[in-house]
Amino acid sequence: MLKLVYAPDPILKKECQPLAQVDDHHRTLIKEMYEVMYDANGVGLAAPQVGLDMRIFIVDAAAREEEKTPITMINPKIISIEDDLVPYEEGCLSFPEHFAEIDRPDKLKIEYIDENNKKKILSTDGFNSRIIQHELDHLNGILFVDHLSRLKRDVIIRKMKKFKKEEKIV
Ligand code: ZN
Repeated sequence: MLKLVYAPDPILKKECQPLAQVDDHHRTLIKEMYEVMYDANGVGLAAPQVGLDMRIFIVDAAAREEEKTPITMINPKIISIEDDLVPYEEGCLSFPEHFAEIDRPDKLKIEYIDENNKKKILSTDGFNSRIIQHELDHLNGILFVDHLSRLKRDVIIRKMKKFKKEEKIV
């Protein structure tokens, strides 16, 4: 079973590798990623957050609702994105209990392949767009704290190091 990786960890700073083809092995991993995400009460999860060097992420803006809306994005690429920045308080499963307001564009258009190797295009905004941008960052080794000032980031990283030590997470 896949396990959540907590920051700081080298895998979270890596630019992940694209998939040539989605096969049954990947589909099994994706299924496990959904289990990890829903178990942790998250709305998004990227492959490096469970130790996988792959350009895969999953999002579900309705993860906390009864009617789920899971979207799996493989080899995602932004086609277009607005310049207007909006603030929103973000968290991350790799940073339990830490939240920070981050400015990001609202509307975006993204291209990706799904679990069945089908090419898809999605135009979205609001919460869904926010999660997608956060997860896409993960595939490029960028964490939400990297959008903060160095001072704020260092405070959170220091607390995370302490948390990992206390919880004996290696
Ligand atoms: Zn995250």
